Amino acid sequence: MKGEMSVSRFLDRLKDVTAVNSEKLAFFNSRCGGDADERLTYGELSRWSDALAAYLVDTAPAGKPVVIYGHKSPLMLVGFIAAAKAGLTYAPVDIAYPADRVNDILTQIDHPLVISLADEGFAGDESLAASVVGAEAVQTAIAAGRSVGRERWIDGDTPFYLLFTSGSTGRPKGVQMPSRCVDAFMDYFTGLFPVREDGVSFNRVPYTFDVSLFDIIAGLARGYTLFALESEDEQSMRAAFDALAVSGLTTWISTPSFIEMCLADPAFNEELLPRLDNIILCGEVFRNATALKLIERFPAARILNTYGPTETQAVTDIVVDEALATEVNPLPVGYLGGAVAAIVRDPETGAVLPQGEVGEIYLAGDTVSAGYWARPDLTEAVFSEIEGEDGAPVRCYKTGDKGYLDGEGRLFCLGRLDFQVKLNGFRVELADVEQALVRVPVVGEAVVLAAERDGKVSHLVAHVRLADPAVPGDFATSRSIKAALKELVPEYMVPKKIVYHDEFALNVNGKIDRKALA
Ligand code: AMP
Repeated sequence: MKGEMSVSRFLDRLKDVTAVNSEKLAFFNSRCGGDADERLTYGELSRWSDALAAYLVDTAPAGKPVVIYGHKSPLMLVGFIAAAKAGLTYAPVDIAYPADRVNDILTQIDHPLVISLADEGFAGDESLAASVVGAEAVQTAIAAGRSVGRERWIDGDTPFYLLFTSGSTGRPKGVQMPSRCVDAFMDYFTGLFPVREDGVSFNRVPYTFDVSLFDIIAGLARGYTLFALESEDEQSMRAAFDALAVSGLTTWISTPSFIEMCLADPAFNEELLPRLDNIILCGEVFRNATALKLIERFPAARILNTYGPTETQAVTDIVVDEALATEVNPLPVGYLGGAVAAIVRDPETGAVLPQGEVGEIYLAGDTVSAGYWARPDLTEAVFSEIEGEDGAPVRCYKTGDKGYLDGEGRLFCLGRLDFQVKLNGFRVELADVEQALVRVPVVGEAVVLAAERDGKVSHLVAHVRLADPAVPGDFATSRSIKAALKELVPEYMVPKKIVYHDEFALNVNGKIDRKALA
């Protein structure tokens, strides 16, 4: 499927932007002031990714995704683009992942090449990789200055990226996004990025989160400069604000939770970010109260609520102004962007429901993923082909989200039908945390529930039956369980609270009675 529907269109856009101004910054992070290595021009991105692509063609196992390990450094972006130019898929892995999760991903891909760009070194087991190469090898490859022909460029059905999300089986599952889909969402996303010479977008979320593709794709295609916070500046609000103040940011992209955290400080306002005129929020419920506060602090900015799972990319958007935030609660997640249609079905019977009725949201169209890496069983359970208006097959994803479409064509998302939740923007399968908990030796059985405040998940609570009744369910035990869990799952998945039970009550079906626990 060469030509029109290929990611080469994205790579071509990047080439056009570079041709206009190769000295323009494509990326910088908050460490940049003190360190010139933390910035990257469009010209460098182009030349360096060409050179690294040539190296990847020689060294990476054919047909396997290249794991790119690190956080927010210029070479991460170079790595993603280099993989695409080499005709390979990139699979980002963040330094926040514990070794166990990194190893699981390596096992699933089966001995990939790993490019490790983390200052701290690679957390995974090197024997599970074909090889692990560091920043030095990348620099050497870049210095060699080679390049690859565009016939190598990624295309058609080859996934552009593979993102591992929380999986209900207790293992992360890899969502594959074919190259042809990337051009489809590039067309949609660029419409959300105003045309401007001096655009700077907030490359805030980790590269393992699909929301990061907003500015990797649309930001770069529009010639924006991507600005990121280095990990230490993410830890301190003061440091983050200092960095934001000199960032020149024009487009904000984050989860509602992150902007809520910022809003807690009155200094987060248009004086801090005088150029900010576009705020894109995605990934979880955007509350009306947050919207109203945001409108007050940034009266000149356009605020967008957007929605979409990793399996389809963001597919809706809507401008949230004072009238909408005052009159419509909960806020709609938006109008469909065009590449994808929403179908609402009865969760029990699968029958298509009329407009206005609440059911399960299915998304069908051009940006629906090819499915999960090496998991045909999981893929088959939620992906299907349906007949499009012109009779041609259209790929469809069963989201597990509850919602409806209103008379104006606005989609509303009312939460999940299953045990997947959003915590501070991170997607968490409660079963995933449960599986990890029972791997901690003192834990016999575990049920994890999400505690809510104001209609939003505030923290996780683990209900635990200890394996040995002689072990006390006290503070010290909780501390040791949490410490053990941190080695198995990312920190955001560690429950804040642990409640101990001698045994769990069962419901009529003989399952643990989750409702009673809640
Ligand atoms: P992820 O795959 O991490 O992007 O998570 C996707 C899920 O997050 C969706 O299936 C929804 O349950 C939820 N979600 C994403 N965006 C929104 C939004 N704007 N409002 C409410 N829920 C959202």
